[in-house]
Amino acid sequence: MAEVIRSGAFLQQCWSVHPLCVAVKRMADNRTLFLNCSSCRFVHHLTFTTIVAKASVGLNEPNRLSENRAQGEEGLTQLTGCLETHASALSLREVDVFEDRALIRCADCRRHYALTVAAFETHQR
Ligand SMILES: [Zn+2]
Ligand SMILES: [Zn+2]
Repeated sequence: MAEVIRSGAFLQQCWSVHPLCVAVKRMADNRTLFLNCSSCRFVHHLTFTTIVAKASVGLNEPNRLSENRAQGEEGLTQLTGCLETHASALSLREVDVFEDRALIRCADCRRHYALTVAAFETHQR
């Protein structure tokens, strides 16, 4: 039977030890991200409440909105698009289990997604 650990400690650990091994795989139920760690046998589930998309390079791209806090659903749509077309460009840049925050970066879109995390879970593969 698969073990489920309802804590962000494992993800924090994975990310701090081998950040490049943590890959964003897919999204379920519109609000839960699945992150695979290639070094461990774990899948981290990250359920979030809000998502804010920000352009990574504001100065070089003046046409883009650098931040848009009012339209959280837009960030969700954008992240869904990233997952569908170029999931491998997504990476976990920050995770803070005490502040319940995570930051996902898309290298293709040069965009950051700031997530407010409602629940961290780690599942054994
Ligand atoms: Zn790991
Ligand atoms: Zn993207």
